[in-house]
Amino acid sequence: ARRHRVAVIGGGSAGVSVAARLRRAGVTGITLVEPSDTHWYQPLWTLVGGGQAPLHASRRPEGTVIPDGVHWLRRRALAVDPDARTVTLSGGDELGYENLVLAPGLRLDWDGVPGLAEAVGRDRVSSNYAPEYAPRTWELIRNMRAGTAVFTHPSGPLKCGGAPQKIAYLAADHWRRRKVLDRIRIILVLPDPTLFKVPEWSRVLEGVAARYGIEVRLRSELTAVDGDRREITVTSLADGTKESIGYDFLHAVPPQSAPGWIRTSPLADPKSPQGFVAADPHTLQHPSYDTVFTLGDVANLPTSKTGAAVRKQAPVVAANLLDTMNGRPPSRRYDGYTSCPLLTAHDRMLLAEFDYDLRPTPTFPLIDTFKERRDMWLFKRFVLPPAYWRGMLTGRL
Ligand code: FAD
Repeated sequence: ARRHRVAVIGGGSAGVSVAARLRRAGVTGITLVEPSDTHWYQPLWTLVGGGQAPLHASRRPEGTVIPDGVHWLRRRALAVDPDARTVTLSGGDELGYENLVLAPGLRLDWDGVPGLAEAVGRDRVSSNYAPEYAPRTWELIRNMRAGTAVFTHPSGPLKCGGAPQKIAYLAADHWRRRKVLDRIRIILVLPDPTLFKVPEWSRVLEGVAARYGIEVRLRSELTAVDGDRREITVTSLADGTKESIGYDFLHAVPPQSAPGWIRTSPLADPKSPQGFVAADPHTLQHPSYDTVFTLGDVANLPTSKTGAAVRKQAPVVAANLLDTMNGRPPSRRYDGYTSCPLLTAHDRMLLAEFDYDLRPTPTFPLIDTFKERRDMWLFKRFVLPPAYWRGMLTGRL
């Protein structure tokens, strides 16, 4: 059967950005496999949960973001055989490829915490991690006048590591302005020993949490949800002790891993417990299969999984894939750049940008990004979304 010159699996932030860049470089014969008819700009979901943006602003029909000249196959990839260079698709067909870009994102393991799958979306449990639940976060925040609110962060890699705590700050700021903050006990549960990986920003966030009176439980994770009794179990990762906490509102973020078919494929990194795809951290090429590249949430890279990281990875993958197609070694390098816009109030934000060495790598070197800033909040709310749709997805930015 005919082989597709380039197969891109996943039409999310990463897959569409790479396809657009390859098209701009004149590459033909690109097939993009994406089962969904909707493309989501997920960074907006924090603002949806915080009552600052409508859900529909995060959604566009997939067909409108697929670059001209790219063939869209509305199928789901079910398996990949990198030796035969084939991908098995839903419906049973096989797609043969010469070059492969793997970008199917990650899987949310709602079943990873007993009781969570049953409770989310009901029982005063919400999550900004899925579009069906993000609007409910705002409903619960808006209606809360007293009681206990718990925000949890799973252990293991997750997309946008700041999102589990940003929503706690947005909620607290809303309650402060409503003058009910002193009647609400807020608990933030995190697996790490600090609030943020980079010490400079961690210190600022400690101040933010203290300002709102948030009880921070470090080195702990959510291990059970009892939606009927509105009770959760939080387990200490330091000594295994368990604590039951009654809640009136729970914002939970599920554990995350590679999709099952990736995890069981020869492309998964044996060193990744969650089965993410192996890649050279700088060239993003698979270590064993030269014509396979990966990026975005599914890639096993020692940096935070964000759309901002995808923006820097996409040009590297496109250039290095072109090199490979032309028989040259990959020439572009990714330095691990990622960024996390940490919303700390309804009109304030910290923009944390750093690389593989956790070195701050500011886009705007002249402004102090270790301070909560209103201009950065405006940037997140009004500049980044159009920059995403018009710049990043079209391969211009
Ligand atoms: P996705 O954009 O998730 O796309 C994956 C695509 O693959 C989807 O379209 C899916 O349908 C498709 N797919 C899945 N399985 C298959 C299959 N088997 N076959 C074919 N296609 C498949 N990033 C930031 O930079 N800043 C932020 O402020 C920020 N905030 C966030 C807040 C929240 C609440 C969330 C959930 C995420 C946030 N992110 C943020 C992270 C950002 O959205 C992701 O890192 C980014 O979308 C990753 O792009 P991706 O293409 O790898 O995955």
